[in-house]
Amino acid sequence: MCGIFGYVGKKTNAAGMILEGLRLLEYRGYDSWGIATKVKSQNAKVKSFLAVEKHVGKIGDAKVDLPQSALGIGHTRWATHGGVTQENSHPHLDCTKNIAVVHNGIIENYQELKEVLLKKGHSFLSETDTEVFPHLIEEYLASKGETLQGKGFTEAFRLAFNQIKGLNAIVAINADTNEIAAAKTGSPLIIGVSENEFYVASDAIGILKHTNKIVFLEDNQMVMLGKKLRLTKLPEGEELEPAVNTLDWKFEDAIKGRFEHFLLKEIHEQPQVISNIALNYSDQTKKLAKLIKESYGTFLLGCGTASYAGLFGTYLFSSIAKRHVNFSIGSEFNYLENYLTPKSLVIPISQSGETIDIVEPVNRAKQKGSKVASLVNVLGSTLYRQSDFKVLLGAGSEKAVIGTKSFTAMISVLFLTAYTLVKKQKEAKNLLLSAAKNVEEILKEDYTKNIKKLALEFKNKEHIYILGRGLSYATALEATLKIKETTYVHAEGFAGGELKHGVIALIEKGTPVFIIAPNDETFDDIISNAQEVKARGGFIIGIGPRKSDVFDRFLQTRDITEATIIPQVVISQLFAYYLALSRGIKDPDKPRNLAKSVTVK
Ligand code: GLU
Repeated sequence: MCGIFGYVGKKTNAAGMILEGLRLLEYRGYDSWGIATKVKSQNAKVKSFLAVEKHVGKIGDAKVDLPQSALGIGHTRWATHGGVTQENSHPHLDCTKNIAVVHNGIIENYQELKEVLLKKGHSFLSETDTEVFPHLIEEYLASKGETLQGKGFTEAFRLAFNQIKGLNAIVAINADTNEIAAAKTGSPLIIGVSENEFYVASDAIGILKHTNKIVFLEDNQMVMLGKKLRLTKLPEGEELEPAVNTLDWKFEDAIKGRFEHFLLKEIHEQPQVISNIALNYSDQTKKLAKLIKESYGTFLLGCGTASYAGLFGTYLFSSIAKRHVNFSIGSEFNYLENYLTPKSLVIPISQSGETIDIVEPVNRAKQKGSKVASLVNVLGSTLYRQSDFKVLLGAGSEKAVIGTKSFTAMISVLFLTAYTLVKKQKEAKNLLLSAAKNVEEILKEDYTKNIKKLALEFKNKEHIYILGRGLSYATALEATLKIKETTYVHAEGFAGGELKHGVIALIEKGTPVFIIAPNDETFDDIISNAQEVKARGGFIIGIGPRKSDVFDRFLQTRDITEATIIPQVVISQLFAYYLALSRGIKDPDKPRNLAKSVTVK
């Protein structure tokens, strides 16, 4: 799930450019980072070598102390194998210290490979799976380098890559040949092409500042970058003609502006995101509705926050469009996809468009001939390129790891689509515009002061429960996730009716229980559930348009039928944010252990 950035060319500030690139990619992982650059030897007898700098923690304002160089790679890590230490952070080197490697993914057979390499005398400095790779290159170079006349590095990299198992993106530099080699089977890699220079990164945003000529590396392709670009197909290495795309995307480096954190800024951007969808998504949602209508079996897929958008979708399509739409968590679809046929429609929902648990099932769905219509926020992402039809969410760059505006964008698009299916698009537009208005009201100090107060009141609570029924069950789950990932407090969401089947045993005197109560058919039943909790000592916080005597605290929204979910979710986002602050969490933009784009299984 890491961020990778590499450069080869004529500029001599490779380390500075790489550091800047890594900062833009840090949302992909931030437990440690490192950079390796080639250092030219002044002494003719001594070969060039690699200088390496590695750090534990986030990049922040760090500077690097590496000499001038025109070749280098960097990595910001999300550890899978081996703890978060300086030794385990990337880049990793071979024994000769001429080859440096950065890696995104998991080398599934690294243990077997490591045993063989250890027997051959290679020494390892880290606990990572990655470190086998530079030694594999070294091994192939030693056995084949002589015979391959200048093509040694290319061949050694290709053979090494063919030996590893799993879904991986690997980039290596060689100080001897002044080249970058890169290949992938899962995680994204993008090549930037400029005059006599090349960039490689996990994401186009890292590169667009330098060039808009982009080659998207596909799975099972390998690229060599040096004096020129050579693209080949794996495993055999047949030459391929690279497709160089000229992108007119704007390079946008989001800034916090007047906000202390991106999380708060992005929560505040939601009225704009929702109104934009209400006003400008008529055609796209009509097309999506048509695809749903024509399909035999529609499957919404999502992970994390997007999975709750998907769950919301199944309830919504049932209640508004009277249509059965299936939903699965991305990583579980593997076990449910036997129903797919060429007439099925798969609707993957993803902010980044890189989530491996979405990209993989989409690949399999395509192999079965099913249609793919995605809801995705990042232009040019793997999912964007995989899909037959896509609705770009238009939430703009989301920097905080916690998804907020991307979620409201997802549910707004689903909302508009469900109403469009029954020819009520205009009604949906108006409801979305009212939701945007209500969110604006909630974001005002007059309103947020109540949420802040509540956050202070609950700052020492270790368990929070959230109940909802129907559509609000999805709201409860999303609100719970916001609290868990932002504050590290144990929070659980339940369908109101499930309480009596076991969960009620958890309620003690003073346990905070949020009740998601829109003014719909669930109201009476969820209020009864709230009464059951209160009778056992629970402290009840109601979120919705209608007040009830059972509520100890009440956070009111407008009544906007099914769109009431939008203000309700925004209230939960704000509550999570202020609870994090009141618990002394310094950087809610980057919660511990997480990464925004989840590219490992
Ligand atoms: N598996 C590698 C490691 O743990 C790479 C993880 C990543 O993608 O950041 O270092």
